[in-house]
Amino acid sequence: MKIRFIIQIMLPVILILISEASASTQLSPPKILVVTSTPDIAWAIREIGGDRVEVQSLLTGREDPHFVDARPDYVAKVSKADVVCSVGLELEVGWLPKVLAKAARRDIQPGGKGYCEFGSKVETLEKPTSPVNRSQGDVHPAGNPHFWLSPSVFAKATREAVDALERVRPELKGAFDARYSEFLRMMLGLETRLQAKLSQSALTGANARYAEYHREFVYFSKSFGLTGVAVLEEKPGLSPSAARLAMVSTQLKAEKVSLVLAATSAPQKLIRKFEELSGLKVAVVPVSVQSNSDFESYPKLLERIVDVLIEASKQNQKRAQ
Ligand SMILES: [Zn+2]
Repeated sequence: MKIRFIIQIMLPVILILISEASASTQLSPPKILVVTSTPDIAWAIREIGGDRVEVQSLLTGREDPHFVDARPDYVAKVSKADVVCSVGLELEVGWLPKVLAKAARRDIQPGGKGYCEFGSKVETLEKPTSPVNRSQGDVHPAGNPHFWLSPSVFAKATREAVDALERVRPELKGAFDARYSEFLRMMLGLETRLQAKLSQSALTGANARYAEYHREFVYFSKSFGLTGVAVLEEKPGLSPSAARLAMVSTQLKAEKVSLVLAATSAPQKLIRKFEELSGLKVAVVPVSVQSNSDFESYPKLLERIVDVLIEASKQNQKRAQ
């Protein structure tokens, strides 16, 4: 009697639960798995894709993206991806093509529907006018690839990822387009807000002139009204000699430039050497979003860079007095 009761009452309930479970799996299609080279473009794609994407970045934001090994775990991640996005403009040319080749999946190779390079939507700065041979050590043979430090340029370039997401999931075009419009508005708002912050700081006019270790703040400085006057590296990617450091140091003294920038991944030994030679304190800034840090989102990263610059400029001007 008891068993019959259980079967009569519980069986329909169990059947309903099973059918609901299977309906809900049918209703939510699998997430688009996106693998990116850098955490900055991973952040942008999460903003666009929301809960429809799962995004993994190969790099952590602590490496120099020009010089990375094609690691086997990168190949494993990329071979599962629906979409692979890179910064492009040959930033990752030393390692990503090897990773893609080893992953051996047609859709994510250049030209495939799941492949995207943000740089293809960028008006490239410092495009060489004569052929550059990367084997001579220049890591910017296709022009300057560090556009992501300008919010407006980065936002425009993110259209490339929107197109890739829409190619692999055309039914979500409307949703991705709407989120992209929102993203553009947010990024332009960020740029305007930080421009205002800089214009109220001491970092204007002659004080807005700077030198950098590697040529990576050109898009940033265009957005925020700074002027680059010298680069410590003789060629992008080539470590400067002691003579080069001394020469730049003399130039900065003569021109009364006190702001010098370097990424956290720049060789610390050379930075210290330059500080000794020039008597200037180099402002070391993160140039990529990093998880488990207080700049794990792009707006926080940019805010951090601007704050470090304002503080460094203040300190250097105080020292010069
Ligand atoms: Zn570079």
